[in-house]
Amino acid sequence: MSDEHPQWKPATLAIRTGHHRTEEGEHSPGIFTTSSYVYENAAQAAARFSGDEAGNIYSRFTNPTVRTFEERLAVLEGGARCVATATGMAAIMTTCMGLMQQGDHLLSSRSIFGSTVILFDKYLSRFGIETSYVPLADLDAWRAAIRPETRMLFVETPSNPLAELGDIRALADLAHEHDCLLVVDNCFCTPALQRPLDMGADVVVHSATKYLDGQGRCMGGAVVGDEKNVGEEVYGVLRTAGPSMSPFNAWVFLNGLETLDLRMKAHSANAAALARWLQEHPAVSRVHYPGLDHHPQKALADRQMKLPGGMLSFEVDGGQAAAWKVIDATRLLSITANLGDTKSTVTHPASTTHGRLTPEQRTDAGISDGLIRISVGLEDVEDIKDDLARGLDCL
Ligand SMILES: *Cc1c(COP(=O)(O)O)cnc(C)c1O
Repeated sequence: MSDEHPQWKPATLAIRTGHHRTEEGEHSPGIFTTSSYVYENAAQAAARFSGDEAGNIYSRFTNPTVRTFEERLAVLEGGARCVATATGMAAIMTTCMGLMQQGDHLLSSRSIFGSTVILFDKYLSRFGIETSYVPLADLDAWRAAIRPETRMLFVETPSNPLAELGDIRALADLAHEHDCLLVVDNCFCTPALQRPLDMGADVVVHSATKYLDGQGRCMGGAVVGDEKNVGEEVYGVLRTAGPSMSPFNAWVFLNGLETLDLRMKAHSANAAALARWLQEHPAVSRVHYPGLDHHPQKALADRQMKLPGGMLSFEVDGGQAAAWKVIDATRLLSITANLGDTKSTVTHPASTTHGRLTPEQRTDAGISDGLIRISVGLEDVEDIKDDLARGLDCL
């Protein structure tokens, strides 16, 4: 459908792309729970297996419900191909397996998802791929760290939990000067707020578990990019190794995509209102949010993000005791590390997501003991403020 209507705006594409209606005339896409597919005759089976004829073979790599999700997300990100995966980590693993080999060097932002660091340091290293890390916003450091064998630059922007930004266009230019690929984890923004491929990135990876679902129900991931890198290399790994998305989860995500544009606007509006309120609160020493005027990269945020998104963090004086007091006083917010949900969640990074770092590493990374991260949901923002005020007013 999307090919016929390239002029449609994203909100429309998110609702209309990818559903190839069956003879049943269903208005809403169905869930195809079938592991394999039947052929007219032996010749057709042979043609499908050889690739001479397009069509379904086996749901490890071809499933109509999963394909609907893939077509929809590809169009939203502006990529030619999308490969859906079982989780966000499976998307990153499949990307690395498809696009790198023994002896390659991976250059990554220091501020990335914890499991991604472990994947790079503990597992990719076993296969002869070495990773080094640079501060996200320091372009000179990126440039200085590139080696002849560097193959991939990996970045997450805005970063978690301090909302620092990487300049996608500048990093893409740098990558291409050195024959490298730029991979962007676009989990925090989604294509509703940021389209890395338009800014020169080669590949976008997602944890669909977060905003693409939007209601904290299913695990999933996706890789989006061009025909060669994603359609051939990443798809080849998925087809063979099988970290595939289930049709049921694909169905949940593609329904999630239908409201993505609306939800991301609402998450951003709530987060912006909460950030401004926190900034005025006497117990809060600092707020990290790309939508605030004092954000050190405000100009870049305005240039590369449509809206500042739903993730923010703030610091209270008094270290861990004070932060825990605020968190434990909440009754509405969920104390959990998940994010991108309609339900607001609150996390103490120093003792959870970043708890495995040494105190020195945490100081280097700017994760203070008084830091609190909020994934701002879609409840009425006045209720979210009241919930945080209960603890903050007692500090
Ligand atoms: C959650 C997350 C991942 C991993 O996704 P899973 O679906 O949990 O495997 C990767 N990157 C970011 C930024 C995330 O927030």
